[in-house]
Amino acid sequence: MLPENGRPAEDLLAELARLKEADLPVHGGKVTAYVYDTGRAEVRDAAARAYMAMLEVNCLDPTAFPSIVELEKQVVGAVAAKLGGGPDTPGIFTSGGTESIMLAVKSARDARPVAAPRLVVPVTAHPAFHKAAHYLGLELVTVPVDTTTFRVDPAAMEAAIDEDSENTVLVAVSAPSYPQGVIDPVPEVAALASARGIPCHVDACVGGWLLPWMRDAGEEVAPFDLTVPGVTSISCDLHKYGYAPKGASVVLYADESLRRHAYFASAAWPGYTVINSTVQSSKGAGPLGGAWATLQALGESGYRELAANAVAAARKLVAGVEGIPGLRVLGSPAASLVAIASDDPDLDVFVLSDKARDHGWLIQPQLSFPGIPANVHLTLTGVSLDGVDALLEVLAEAAAEAREAGPATLPEGLAEALLELDLDTVDDAGFAALLASVGADPSAEPGTGGGMAVVNSVLDALPPHTREGLLIRFLSSLYRAFA
Ligand SMILES: *Cc1c(COP(=O)(O)O)cnc(C)c1O
Repeated sequence: MLPENGRPAEDLLAELARLKEADLPVHGGKVTAYVYDTGRAEVRDAAARAYMAMLEVNCLDPTAFPSIVELEKQVVGAVAAKLGGGPDTPGIFTSGGTESIMLAVKSARDARPVAAPRLVVPVTAHPAFHKAAHYLGLELVTVPVDTTTFRVDPAAMEAAIDEDSENTVLVAVSAPSYPQGVIDPVPEVAALASARGIPCHVDACVGGWLLPWMRDAGEEVAPFDLTVPGVTSISCDLHKYGYAPKGASVVLYADESLRRHAYFASAAWPGYTVINSTVQSSKGAGPLGGAWATLQALGESGYRELAANAVAAARKLVAGVEGIPGLRVLGSPAASLVAIASDDPDLDVFVLSDKARDHGWLIQPQLSFPGIPANVHLTLTGVSLDGVDALLEVLAEAAAEAREAGPATLPEGLAEALLELDLDTVDDAGFAALLASVGADPSAEPGTGGGMAVVNSVLDALPPHTREGLLIRFLSSLYRAFA
């Protein structure tokens, strides 16, 4: 309900501060997912002020607000320069990795219209590809990865493409993939796509603004960008290792004609003519201003230093995990994303994640997948190096506590019951009772027993399609509670 009379800003900000008390901290490096922290207050300040300076500008009409054209050209140009492009490399500033991928997929679909378009990706590719295929009407074909290196085998990609190469409009690989942080064999996959006249997208959403700086610092980085023959587009999120405020990503194209296929225009109504480069139409210029200012406030040396810190933190973590009984790192992380599994049946990684949360750290659980064990995922950032010793201590303590507590136990018959359950017919009360039966209370304070280990174990025991149905039902119940 709205107040009858407007409230003063102080009052509103106090309320926001109160609402945010239950949130995870967005600074300090104890949340090893979702947030990217430079640890530099002056950079955040520059971004916040630039964001506010662009607050009311509408990206809907670039002829009315030429500032956004200039800012976008500068941002896209900066990204192109680091990812193997040049001053003429076409690109689009988008709201995030998902939108960059959506536009890469739309370009490929519309560049070569076929009856039944398909998109071939490794199974480790981000769900944004599933979402793009779902929204844009493509068939998504996933290819298993090697269960030791977690990289996709080019021959397996080739076989999947050749099942129907005529209808395959796009092939994609990751640099690196999110789940285990490894880089797919980009040159090999791009070459075999190119030999068939099929475009190849590189998803460098998470790594695109990290790998170039690692290379500049003298590290060996596997080839992944637009310099690789056959790569036709690449996505790079500035709101990840670009440290920009959320709502900032870039998709680059090797060819202007591909970019044009991302665009949308409509003059088929009696109102203003629409020309959009992105999914959104009316759109605030704050994220563009914030991203531009973050790039300028950090500069080359800033990014080199932050990348070096993130990678040094990850290496220290990988070395340290070897000394923690029962834990092992999956694959060889290429940058600063690390997945850790358990070798000890008494040490449940979902319980470990809950125990770490009790110590004030968020360590993201990842469910098992055919050939890949359940694990926890850490995204280390520029600020992580200062805290990596503390992180290793918490991991060791949480591992010991998890072993002591034993694995999460599923209520008898629950997984079977969930498999049978018709989620369309169960009512809210029934679903709430179901959540309560696994001790799932997402609003519980850390350390009060509101752990997620049982929930994760239940999900882990179910096939992906059933997991998805439950998650959607959970989301709708979460928001319904406010009404
Ligand atoms: C984060 C991520 C995405 C999706 O990005 P959003 O900005 O969350 O939409 C896609 N691919 C990879 C590899 C990612 O890490």
